[in-house]
Amino acid sequence: MIKVKKLNKYFGDLHVLKNIDLNVEAGEVVSVIGPSGSGKSTLLRCLNRLEEPSSGDIIFEGISVMDDEHHDINELRQKMGMVFQQFNLFNHMNVMENITLAPIKLKNMDKDQAKKVAEDLLKKVGLLDKAEAYPAQLSGGQKQRIAIARALAMSPDVMLFDEPTSALDPEMVGDVLKVMKDLAAEGMTMVIVTHEMSFARDVADRVIIMDEGNIIEEGNPKQIFNAPKHPRAKDFLSRVL
Ligand code: ATP
Ligand code: MG
Repeated sequence: MIKVKKLNKYFGDLHVLKNIDLNVEAGEVVSVIGPSGSGKSTLLRCLNRLEEPSSGDIIFEGISVMDDEHHDINELRQKMGMVFQQFNLFNHMNVMENITLAPIKLKNMDKDQAKKVAEDLLKKVGLLDKAEAYPAQLSGGQKQRIAIARALAMSPDVMLFDEPTSALDPEMVGDVLKVMKDLAAEGMTMVIVTHEMSFARDVADRVIIMDEGNIIEEGNPKQIFNAPKHPRAKDFLSRVL
């Protein structure tokens, strides 16, 4: 579904992604882990061109995301739902408005249908009773579940998560991970940057370890966590496990 080919990203002189090759198959759950500053967020943000790659290519559903003629960037972002550490909800809108805004504006969905879709998603994330609430009235975990529902309202083909639980109080983390687990079980294609090692171990089909802009290790969770090969992967895991 996503093929990353020799992707490089520089910020000025800083070489942040170094010749990254990566394939994500439809229905696959890929967890990206690695030390702070290793390029995880940058890689994720390049996928939907929130960051502009310096060189290389990203093929999404058969078309290069760099090919502006054949890939409308807005359409691309609709097909790749993204959830950030800091929720990014619209604070002046209630939950229902947050979720229905994009489907109405960008997909020309009629209001009633958008509302129906939103209600189904709110049920799914366990927050139907919060439809009229404003973000300020929600806990962090609730905000994050709304952010996930909002992304899902566009029926994306893939969901990108950048440390979705890192800003949450520990007791909120489980509810968000549960929603993500359910999504994975339904067959959603997901790329998840996470510090939740047990989640990566239990839910991911494949784990990728990044270090200084390189993918230094990649494989099924069991293999990665039990028998990492790369010395820096061993070192990283020994610090976080
Ligand atoms: P963390 O686990 O702390 O979130 P990360 O693996 O997500 O780290 P990135 O955010 O991708 O790391 O950053 C990779 C490198 O690129 C870091 O050295 C960072 O300082 C640098 N960087 C990221 N964004 C920018 C930017 N907009 N301008 C300049 N440098 C940047
Ligand atoms: Mg990051």
